[in-house]
Amino acid sequence: MIVAIVGSIHMDFYIRLPKLPVPGETVLGHGFTMLPGGKGANQAVACSRLGAYTYMVGRVGNDIFGEKLIENFRKNNVDTKYIEVDKTTHTGIAFILLDEKTGENMITVAPGADYNVSAKDVDNAMDAISRSDILLLQLEIPIDTVVYAAKRAWEKGVRVILNPAPAASLPDEIYRYIHVLTPNRVEASLLTNINIESREDAVKAGKLLIDKGVDYVIITLGAEGSMVISKDFVRHIPAYKVEVVDTTGAGDAFNAALAVSLAEGKDIVEACRIANAAAALQITKLGAQSGLPTREELEEFLRKHRQ
Ligand code: ADP
Repeated sequence: MIVAIVGSIHMDFYIRLPKLPVPGETVLGHGFTMLPGGKGANQAVACSRLGAYTYMVGRVGNDIFGEKLIENFRKNNVDTKYIEVDKTTHTGIAFILLDEKTGENMITVAPGADYNVSAKDVDNAMDAISRSDILLLQLEIPIDTVVYAAKRAWEKGVRVILNPAPAASLPDEIYRYIHVLTPNRVEASLLTNINIESREDAVKAGKLLIDKGVDYVIITLGAEGSMVISKDFVRHIPAYKVEVVDTTGAGDAFNAALAVSLAEGKDIVEACRIANAAAALQITKLGAQSGLPTREELEEFLRKHRQ
């Protein structure tokens, strides 16, 4: 299986604090961690761990963080041939302040090179994209680039999965290029103006998105699992019961496992069940990438938890 990702690559800086600061206040923290992140990068590492040949298409800045992030991809066997080193700006950065007591956080992002990922980068990577079974996209790069990548892949008959995160509205044109759209509750509400509180609401929202031209919609519902909606059927796939440590990256693990399973030829319902399992494994560990399961871990988990 081959998966291509056009998306974001970040370095995340975490500081743990006894309380979050208010404007003008300085609070001394208890620890600092620097970890690779960005939805595009997380999903690429996840696909590779699950056994797909994975191409990452994106940009880093000409700085030490960019170097570290490319090294991280190499360690995880992600093909970095289509990652540009952008000399005009810095690597995408996120500052994450974590309140040790309440678990609340404050996050700021400086997208830097991520916002320079362009149609030209997509053109340069078309060899890889055309060869892929699946193109996996998110919304942390310019929307025009996302639409362009989806269109070029669709024209080549490559199935496109769009994880519309972080929540943002989409141009009408993009829906027809999408094989599977995977919003969470908040994202689906934003895309449809339907407040999603129940499974019935999710079905209503899903049908509306199908009418816009998508083949399948999967709305992820956190601990409630996910809903698969198509023109012909609706299926609820329950979540796996696990001990939650950190829900960061649940969506990334989910989308990667979905992409790899579809690339392997699994049907959409089976792929969604496997994606639920990958997400469940991810949330039993801390951090966006450290908990992403390998293929062996996922298969072992699926054997133990036959639904
Ligand atoms: P996101 O992380 O993108 O906001 P969700 O919260 O909907 O998305 O989670 C994505 C998937 O992760 C869910 O469909 C489910 O399979 C899994 N998941 C999330 N939270 C839990 C949980 N508490 N227990 C088990 N699985 C979960």
